[in-house]
Amino acid sequence: MTQHQIVIIGGGSAGIATAASLLKRQRGLDIAVVEPSDDHFYQPGWTMVGGGIFQAATTRRSMASVMPSGVTHIKGAAASFQPAENQVTLADGRTIQYKMLVVATGITAAWDAIPGLNETLGSNGVTSNYRFDLAPYTYKLAMGLKKGRAIFTQPPMPIKCPGAPQKAMYLSCSNWEKIGILGDIDVQFHTAGPSLFGIKEYVPPLMEYIKRYDAQLNFGSKLVAVDGPNRKATFAQTDADGKTSQTVLDFDMLHVTPPQRAVEAVAKSLLADATGFVDVSPKTLQHTRFANVFGLGDGCNTPNSKTAAAARKQAPIVAVNLLSVLNGAAATHAYDGYGSCPLTVEHGRAIVAEFGYGGKLLPSFPWDSTKPRWLGWQLKANFLPWLYWNAMLKGREWLAAPLERHTD
Ligand code: FAD
Repeated sequence: MTQHQIVIIGGGSAGIATAASLLKRQRGLDIAVVEPSDDHFYQPGWTMVGGGIFQAATTRRSMASVMPSGVTHIKGAAASFQPAENQVTLADGRTIQYKMLVVATGITAAWDAIPGLNETLGSNGVTSNYRFDLAPYTYKLAMGLKKGRAIFTQPPMPIKCPGAPQKAMYLSCSNWEKIGILGDIDVQFHTAGPSLFGIKEYVPPLMEYIKRYDAQLNFGSKLVAVDGPNRKATFAQTDADGKTSQTVLDFDMLHVTPPQRAVEAVAKSLLADATGFVDVSPKTLQHTRFANVFGLGDGCNTPNSKTAAAARKQAPIVAVNLLSVLNGAAATHAYDGYGSCPLTVEHGRAIVAEFGYGGKLLPSFPWDSTKPRWLGWQLKANFLPWLYWNAMLKGREWLAAPLERHTD
């Protein structure tokens, strides 16, 4: 059995940012990060890889290179949690004791939930920007297509970066428009949801691009099976009266956003709510029942948009509140639900959607955030990746300082 003052489960965006923010406040803390992977990914870059703007390699760095100095990396996966004993058990049987626990395991892509999908991903015209190794195939497929049907899918919520499924479509359409073949491609967007985007202010400008690219929108339409060799996709379509029927569509290119679910080890633990996500206060991010446990990132049950931008704001809040609790006081700071999604609607322009709890617009810049902008594109293509690697993962809390005091 090993012991650490603070144990963080997951070395993704949220876990590493939290470790860095803790150390920024108190050097010398004994922190361990439990993480099975040797690689750390900048997942927001994967839509840009699929659009042919970034090389995949730029979105991956070694886990060792992002681990803040002084933090112990325990290579392994948490298999079960014993919060009453302040203990985590790893898949290989090791146990770790903690004073404070942070759960940042992200969300699981359920590729196996769609029959036929796993077998054909990466071939037969079936791709997804939701995997590092497949995002380059999205670009290859798009550039190889001369005519035919391209289908882009979005599963039911929750998913990480709810704008990413349509960003895959916009960037492919922008490429086809540039090379003059857009008119020969039947572009379809199938979303299991009832609208194009969850925040109403952003729908009209996005609809302008749907019109411009002549994309067919299908609401309440869920991908339920894929037959790669025969290039057929089956959708369950639910109409306004709640009646469901199945449609089989031929495709030449199919971009799939996988259904997503809570990480199994968390879902089956006492830390989860009924949906399987870590049950935390939406403001303080402290666990609702275990005061020495915090949760953040895609794996917790706060009703914000699951984005790295959200994790950027949450990590400093967790750091401040965790240290306060560690010192015997109460959590002091509150998260406002901030999340952001730069919607890359065409090469060179993005709509920078920024919003918090209840859909409240929270623009970081004094501009109308519903407008597609060149500056928004620069933000997505240059500034945000730089901010991620050089600030967020290093405890430099630019655009993320914890300001709001917790009051109730
Ligand atoms: P992750 O970064 O996924 O990290 C979770 C970590 O936990 C992983 O390293 C995993 O190996 C580890 N783990 C899992 N299970 C266990 C276990 N049992 N034990 C130990 N460790 C475990 N966000 C934006 O802000 N803007 C965007 O434009 C954007 N676009 C996106 C586009 C795509 C295609 C994708 C896939 C994501 C996008 N995101 C975007 C979302 C963003 O990447 C996530 O919201 C962010 O990475 C969440 O951080 P996290 O630490 O919660 O999860």
